[in-house]
Amino acid sequence: MKFTNDVPKFTASDAEIDANIKDADIPALLVTCAHLTGDYSLLRDEWRPVMEYGVAISGMTPDTEAEVRAECAARLKSFRDAGGETHAAATAEEIRTVANWMMPEMGEKMDAFIPLNHEEAVLNGFDLRRPRWNKARLAPEREFSVAIIGAGEAGMLTAMRLKEAGVPFTIFEKNPEVGGTWFENHYPGARVDCNSFFYSFACMRGLWEDFYGHGADVLEYLKAVADEWGIRDNIVFNAEVTECRWNEATNQWDLTIDHQGQTLNHNSNMLVSAVGQLNRPMMPDIEGQELFTGPSFHSARWDHDICYEGKRVGVIGTGATALQFIPQLAKTAENVTVFARTTPWLLPTPLLHEKVPEGLKWLMVNVPTYSMWYRVTLAIPGAVGMLDGVKVDPDYPPTEKAVSAMNDQARQAITDWMEAQIEDRPDLREHLIPNSSPLGGKRIIRDNGAWAKTLRRNNVVMNRKGIAEITETGIRDQDGHEHEFDMIVYGTGFQASKFLMPMQVYGHDGVSLHDMWDGDARAYLGATVPNFPNLFMIYGPNTNQVVHGGSAFLWSEFTVKYILDAARTLLESEARSIEVKEKVYWNYNERIDAANRLRAWGFSKVNSWYKNEKGRVTQNYPFTSAELWQRSHEVSLTDYEIS
Ligand code: NAP
Repeated sequence: MKFTNDVPKFTASDAEIDANIKDADIPALLVTCAHLTGDYSLLRDEWRPVMEYGVAISGMTPDTEAEVRAECAARLKSFRDAGGETHAAATAEEIRTVANWMMPEMGEKMDAFIPLNHEEAVLNGFDLRRPRWNKARLAPEREFSVAIIGAGEAGMLTAMRLKEAGVPFTIFEKNPEVGGTWFENHYPGARVDCNSFFYSFACMRGLWEDFYGHGADVLEYLKAVADEWGIRDNIVFNAEVTECRWNEATNQWDLTIDHQGQTLNHNSNMLVSAVGQLNRPMMPDIEGQELFTGPSFHSARWDHDICYEGKRVGVIGTGATALQFIPQLAKTAENVTVFARTTPWLLPTPLLHEKVPEGLKWLMVNVPTYSMWYRVTLAIPGAVGMLDGVKVDPDYPPTEKAVSAMNDQARQAITDWMEAQIEDRPDLREHLIPNSSPLGGKRIIRDNGAWAKTLRRNNVVMNRKGIAEITETGIRDQDGHEHEFDMIVYGTGFQASKFLMPMQVYGHDGVSLHDMWDGDARAYLGATVPNFPNLFMIYGPNTNQVVHGGSAFLWSEFTVKYILDAARTLLESEARSIEVKEKVYWNYNERIDAANRLRAWGFSKVNSWYKNEKGRVTQNYPFTSAELWQRSHEVSLTDYEIS
């Protein structure tokens, strides 16, 4: 994987510029040229991008696009002739100018988003998220180390920042490789559902082959980052942390680790859980499950030794995962029968299966700051997301169809797009178009028309009768009809609400985290819990900003910055522990719960992994990403007991 963070001197010939600029993303191209020439008048009103489902597209006629490309080619040539060098990263004012140009409808509300977008603009080692302190200067004599659980993107990012701050750390990873969810989920068709140029670290901009990278590419990227940052030496692989216990005498966390059957012990001053949210597969409890004699497995445990070519395959589930692997199975299986319960909403995403054109890659590598601006122009609308569209308007009044006029408008637009794909097949309507949940009630799945094409196939059958039982040879539906299969695949999701399970975590006076939560996990800012000093979670309860606020990588940046600030606080104050105040934790959670009830996912009765068994939304953060950035930018000492 090639990275594009450092800008080269621009020496391209006229012919190279003219040949490659045809593939440029127009908003990013205009902003790059404005930045390189210092002439922001290039961001004209008539060249403003159009927002399409949270992505900025040019929205121009081909003639206008040609005019813009010609203008920008001329600007790039003059920049080259003037020396072709820049080392200037974007200033906050430039980010503001660009953001206001892209989304003028936001008005003053955009101000809150400027700092987090400014942090996305990393160039030549200039990275606003880099810790501004170093242990060697702050507390050279103090013995202080951090244990991180998990070497997925969140654990790796924690490691990267701790390395920058000179704080010793060890990562315990249950798998033999980095990558977390991208190591475990290698089912056919696995790919990201957030543009890869944004679903990655801002400080390690990869040169992707696909706009929405395949799972294997994400894994390669994470491996390459681990190598570049030299963090493998700090990782103990094949090491599953089974117990974490706060030691009152030493003010440390004592860890028990299962390392390939051997028990390891380790202690650290701080403990960071980066175990992921969608990590432990959810196998449903269906009668007769153990009787089936053919192969059966969960999507996150895909057995590639089992060939599905020419086979009769039963699939349970129609979530984001199943909608990626079913089209692949259907290509060669004899038939695929899908046991579906809830029809998910789809989000039109034309670039979903598109390769990044050669010219665009050339621009990323050769044109100074282009890859930075491409990322920032993804981040600006991405960080705003579609939160306003899922807010419940009690005056509307909300129903399972729509929770506000805006929500209804988006529902109608997406319904029209879906209807157009099956005009001649009204029988497919119930399988493609949800009628029992508002948009945003559960996870919206990206699609480019591939799902409707799969539904149209003769060898794909949707079964909505409900599963009565699994038998030796197949699945019997609630109508009593038995369907025989050669294999069964469970696309049934993850135990998302069982945070930190199956690990046992004990805090002050031996209190158990899972007993305290009693199946209803909460945290302050998704990160800290009273009675558990120096414990920080990444992607903890109520951190998911799935329809608003970018990507898991961005949310990790917020929490990791917070964790680093907590480490700084401990080192600077010579304190031994930092623990969130009970009142702060509960006030925060009450506010979160009240707001979640007024979001489509909290209002709707639809099944989703956003809620726990008690029906409380444990996953989603109901406010803007700008607010979470602001709150987790630094540790507020009034929120914590520091001793
Ligand atoms: P999921 O969204 O939880 O979907 C699980 C599916 O299994 C649902 O259709 C559910 O039906 C069904 N199901 C569960 N228990 C069942 C039972 N007993 N009988 C019949 N059906 C049952 O899980 P997922 O598809 O693995 O996706 C989880 C999340 O992972 C996604 O929402 C997304 O955030 C993430 N993901 C991301 C990507 C990506 O980045 N590309 C790809 C895949 C997944 P109901 O809906 O009726 O409950």
